[in-house]
Amino acid sequence: MPADDEDRHSERRVRSVPDLDAVREANRARILACIREAGIIARIEISNLTGISPATVSVITGKLLEDGLIEHSEGHGDDLSVARGRPKSFLKLNPHAAYAVGIKLGVQRVFISLTNFLGEVVISRARKVALRRISPQVLARLCADEINAVLGETGTPRSRLAGVGVGCPGLVDHRQGVIQWSPIFEDQFIPFRNIMEEMTGLRVVVDNDVNLVGLAEQCFGLGRNLPDFVVVTVEAGVGMAIVLDGKLRRGQDGFAAELGHMKIRPDGQLCRCGQRGCLEAYVADYAIAREAATFFAATDLGDDAAIDSTIDRLSIAADSGDETAREIFIRAGTMLGIGIGNVAKLLNPPVVFLSGERTRSAAVFFEAMERSLTAQAILPGIGVPRLEIHRWGDELWARGAAALVLETFASERLAGGESVIPPQAAE
Ligand SMILES: [Zn+2]
Repeated sequence: MPADDEDRHSERRVRSVPDLDAVREANRARILACIREAGIIARIEISNLTGISPATVSVITGKLLEDGLIEHSEGHGDDLSVARGRPKSFLKLNPHAAYAVGIKLGVQRVFISLTNFLGEVVISRARKVALRRISPQVLARLCADEINAVLGETGTPRSRLAGVGVGCPGLVDHRQGVIQWSPIFEDQFIPFRNIMEEMTGLRVVVDNDVNLVGLAEQCFGLGRNLPDFVVVTVEAGVGMAIVLDGKLRRGQDGFAAELGHMKIRPDGQLCRCGQRGCLEAYVADYAIAREAATFFAATDLGDDAAIDSTIDRLSIAADSGDETAREIFIRAGTMLGIGIGNVAKLLNPPVVFLSGERTRSAAVFFEAMERSLTAQAILPGIGVPRLEIHRWGDELWARGAAALVLETFASERLAGGESVIPPQAAE
């Protein structure tokens, strides 16, 4: 064997050993995702859909059954195996296998939900609290109390919780669980995962809030069968989530998709991040409210509730034909269209889901956005993503937090040979 062939051969051998566990773990995750997506499915269909061999599907689903993550189901009744006289072997997720708590941190409130293994919301509640006025430790205490309350109200044993998913706007280092910078906190570099884990004794995962929206769309929403799509949210800030080849993309440090802080104008408007010319400084709530303050001369933008009501009043004025109000929304919509146009040129997604409070804005906002996006196409109609407004409340978001927790911790524990819950506790 020539020396370079030998090198390649030994390199392959060295690599193949640690890869086995990763392949097994990836296959488990794919099979779980496949069952989640299908609802009820036969083993052979899992093999057909995932491309994993029937023998491997059989081994992995056997372990998933043993761990109580999936269960047998009566199935559809028209399966070939029934015609051939073999026993039915349909599978579905066990809704009680594990539960997840989702926590969304907002400027003025904390939203908490409990979801089951199917991602169905069992209970949800919101607490009004001004996050800027309390320390991360006080916030963690409040979250811990709320977790106890939702478990108590539903009679869910603590041992059934796979973990807690926390969504926060801003720069969140998902791997380290650190909120590096967020417009809703005074402090920076908050190790919120550790603070929450110490306070609750539960496994906690922290992510950018819009990434959770992306996961929700992918697992339960409009992105279910789409390998590539983008979510853009506009409210207190401008957020984005990118799903490519069926995977949420966070980048090396978890700071990818910071659409709101992409520069749109050199030395432009001042942004909350401290820099100038960010897209957010023209489109987010505070930017529109800043413009509106000159429109409503005596407006006080002292708090977030005042910003909300100012934008609502401005939207009504624009929809009623007031030229100044229309211009404010047209400018913001045009800027957002430019931002999304740049994203389209980078990623060429087939669809962009628009979400967040600003999807309730004046009609001219959307008209201007579409116009500006379409005008950027180099060839008419080519490379322009479809814009879909997807208004949804906290519920779908909570399901994204659940998907993050259940997939993170379920696959982690299975890889280590440990079940999410003791088999005797499964129903
Ligand atoms: Zn910025």
